[in-house]
Amino acid sequence: MSGRIVVVGGGVAGLATAFRLVSSKDLDVTVLEAGPEPGGKVSSVDVGDLLLDGGPDSLIARKPWAVRLARELDLGRELVAPATGVTFVWTDDGLRRFPSGPFGIPTDLRELWGWDGMSRRGRIDALRDLVRKPRKEEGDESLGALLRRRIGDEATDSLVAPLLGGLFAGDVDRLSALATFPELAEWERRQGSLIRGARAAARTAADAVAPPMFLRPRGGMRRLTDALAAALGDRVRCDARVVSVDREGRGYVVRAGESEFSADAVVLATPALASADLLDHLAPEVAAALRGIPHVSTGVLLFVYPEGTGTRLPDSSGFVVPKGKLAMSACTLVSRKWPDPVFGDRAVVRCFVGGSGAEDLLDQPDDAIADGVARQLAAILPLPPEPKAWRLVRWPRSMPQYEVGHLDRVAAIERALPPGTFLVGPAYRGPGIADCVRGANEVADAVRSHLAGRLQPIEGEHVR
Ligand SMILES: Cc1cc2nc3c(=O)[nH]c(=O)nc-3n(C[C@H](O)[C@H](O)[C@H](O)COP(=O)(O)OP(=O)(O)OC[C@H]3O[C@@H](n4cnc5c(N)ncnc54)[C@H](O)[C@@H]3O)c2cc1C
Repeated sequence: MSGRIVVVGGGVAGLATAFRLVSSKDLDVTVLEAGPEPGGKVSSVDVGDLLLDGGPDSLIARKPWAVRLARELDLGRELVAPATGVTFVWTDDGLRRFPSGPFGIPTDLRELWGWDGMSRRGRIDALRDLVRKPRKEEGDESLGALLRRRIGDEATDSLVAPLLGGLFAGDVDRLSALATFPELAEWERRQGSLIRGARAAARTAADAVAPPMFLRPRGGMRRLTDALAAALGDRVRCDARVVSVDREGRGYVVRAGESEFSADAVVLATPALASADLLDHLAPEVAAALRGIPHVSTGVLLFVYPEGTGTRLPDSSGFVVPKGKLAMSACTLVSRKWPDPVFGDRAVVRCFVGGSGAEDLLDQPDDAIADGVARQLAAILPLPPEPKAWRLVRWPRSMPQYEVGHLDRVAAIERALPPGTFLVGPAYRGPGIADCVRGANEVADAVRSHLAGRLQPIEGEHVR
């Protein structure tokens, strides 16, 4: 089998797809990246004298694909786990330790009953999950509807939504239960209760010598995309913004600036909204469906505090914030979670701003946002109101929202994609790096099948 493949977009999804494809020696693979360097959202930024993650800061280890890729790239020994697993949730009375349990669903009834981050009424409501009848209807519903029905409004809003909604920068009352955390619906169906389901899942994880929840290459996430780019060498072309993809015979012609690339297959590893622009002529109905996936804007605020502040921080990886309570939705205590000798005794903190329902904040100038968040931090943590250095990394329309019906939308996109074109990225079947790498593996297989002419594109085959 031979063929020319153009991968558009040199973020982790595009690089991982190309990396998988070049294992077939007779495939001619080119990655076209609009920016001056590969990596996409996996990026590092200078904050004072430190180089910090400006986008993702870790891999979810329970989804094994990215960790396996890191090992293939000889980064296995470089993967480190967080130095602390303690997470807090913000309450009106200060930070409270998260009750133990997967996906924020408490498993220890005594701990839940004694948890003072919620009213007595809220705790009783949450415990009713054990006796409430399961939903009879099949099919999708919002994550919020599922949570509220099982554990009540207070536990949903003050405990679980900040964690699960936060991973999507989303609103649990709009996010699809089946597309985001299908485990929860499964727990209700099988165990009749989220608490019982969480307890069973926690027992299984304990029996299986569970790996840490998160992993990260020492020194930052950039090492993963740098290693991919190094393995691909001059197949990756930067400053090559693709402006069109058109049919040419049985294949395609991809245009980037003055250059044209003929391709037997094209993988669009661009953000879904950029992919929509590239598919406007070729497949207008796919372009419209891609534009129908809502995206919200977020920002990452990085703060570096003076010497002597590091040891003052609590021994915790950070905290999440219930919707609308603070300017930030979550805070990572970087110097506690991922300690590094270069920090010295400086507190290094990263806060998330924006997201569903909070995008207005991003209309403000950088310094106003940083100032407001730093003051709030100083009221919560033993930190001075002014950091020594800070930086706001803005991520406009960066987080795809898997709203109710998302899986049907993706299936419709799959059906309508022209043969020989493929989509990969966080807007489809999982928002994180691990999901993107799994998608890359699957798209690479689908490209090979297409080239071999063994399979016509079939439903569910070419969007990951
Ligand atoms: C603030 C933030 C924090 C996150 N934290 C985590 C985390 O801790 N862990 C985790 O697993 N995930 C996290 N994610 C999600 C993770 O970043 C994404 O899943 C992943 O980076 C997506 O990779 P990608 O290659 O699909 O897209 P991108 O990284 O967006 O790459 C797409 C590339 O396409 C290029 N491009 C766009 N248009 C064109 C064009 N016309 N021609 C050529 N190139 C083009 C862009 O320049 C870009 O480099 C986070 C996301 C954000 C925004």
